[in-house]
Amino acid sequence: SYEKLAGRTAVVTGAASGIGEAVAVVLAAQGARVALLARRADRLEAVAGKIRADGGQALAVVADVTDDASVEAAVARIHEAYGAVDLVVNNAGVMLPNPVDEGRLDEWQRMLDTNVTGVLRVVRAFTADLVAAAAEGRTADLVNISSIGAHITFPNYAVYGATKAAVTYLSQSLRTEFGPRDVRVTNVEPGLTDSELGSHIDNAELAQQLDGMFGALGPLACEDIADLVAYVTSRPRHVNLRQVIALPTRQA
Ligand code: NDP
Repeated sequence: SYEKLAGRTAVVTGAASGIGEAVAVVLAAQGARVALLARRADRLEAVAGKIRADGGQALAVVADVTDDASVEAAVARIHEAYGAVDLVVNNAGVMLPNPVDEGRLDEWQRMLDTNVTGVLRVVRAFTADLVAAAAEGRTADLVNISSIGAHITFPNYAVYGATKAAVTYLSQSLRTEFGPRDVRVTNVEPGLTDSELGSHIDNAELAQQLDGMFGALGPLACEDIADLVAYVTSRPRHVNLRQVIALPTRQA
């Protein structure tokens, strides 16, 4: 079959599970070489093994996007194995809701470090690669996985929503620096998607509320978002879908 991303070299953060895993699998199926980043080595190796078993190219790289040295080591490892990167998917993220009254600075800090500074750290790590690829006439993509939570307000999700609003703003703003140099920036805002995202919620009531929403709305599958990422990155290089919002049909 015709592989739309043949010759591309991709990095996907948060590829150990959920949307990132699905994105890595779909990009590899379309012919891209894919470096998979996350903290859990066993899960990354399993995904990379699955990609290779299906005939794709994958490199598992244990990395924590909240840690400078870890990201720098990952970049060196990827460059050594694959050379420069031309497709970056910032997907790693955490969602830790709680009433603001509880003052969970630990959770706020973790969300800010992962969802905002983590994205910036990865952008910093690969900007030179993306700009150089585009200057050589190749297609170059930065894809940020934000959330519909960037636009809607929901009690107990204030800080998570704020981190995602920051990602959406960054995507829009970075286009003004990258677009003129032929590097595309795409911001993806999923609605409710079936993944492990809710598994770190430490508030039983809010965990139950999320389960109820899954039952009522019928979430997207991670593959639904992965298909969109493959679509936007395989357009002709002068076409930049800058914002994609995808919701379960029943999510109003
Ligand atoms: P998952 O929890 O399944 O995936 C999150 C991934 O991020 C995991 O692979 C995790 O792996 C990785 N990760 C977390 N922290 C770090 C870190 N510090 N360094 C590197 N990797 C990290 O949830 P989703 O697939 O749902 O989440 C992916 C993205 O999609 C997130 O940004 C989320 O905000 C966004 N999103 C999800 C929605 C949903 O309804 N599911 C809706 C809208 C947006 P590990 O723990 O091994 O590091």
